[in-house]
Amino acid sequence: MQKTCAYCGMTFETDSGRAMYCSNCRIAMQLERNRDYMKRKDSNEARLLGTPQKCEKCGKTFILKTGSQKYCEECSQKSSSAKILNNNKYTSTHYDRMTVLVPKGNAAEIKEYAKERGLSVNQLFNIALKEYRSNHKND
Ligand SMILES: [Zn+2]
Ligand SMILES: [Zn+2]
Repeated sequence: MQKTCAYCGMTFETDSGRAMYCSNCRIAMQLERNRDYMKRKDSNEARLLGTPQKCEKCGKTFILKTGSQKYCEECSQKSSSAKILNNNKYTSTHYDRMTVLVPKGNAAEIKEYAKERGLSVNQLFNIALKEYRSNHKND
């Protein structure tokens, strides 16, 4: 059927009863939308440094200083120092440290494998060891 483009007024041929724009205008609008989308996406990702944000932990407002900042300064300090302290203490009293060598180029794959299962490489190793031992009791 013949329709008149609602944007540029040119007549155009279409099969769709709902088409409102000629193909030229449709393409132009699609490009415009893409540009808008990219712009929005860019500004979202930058999360506008220097703007007030809500702390995900305590709900207090803080000024965004880095793009990855989620918590107010108090909370991010508390959580990171507490984590390091706890981890070090826990690790040194509960674990021995040992280095495991893997075939060249496999480290990333192993990390990915563990991540897919929601484990750290360390947990994966310990679980694997446990399973191996229970499967090879008579070795
Ligand atoms: Zn048009
Ligand atoms: Zn906070």
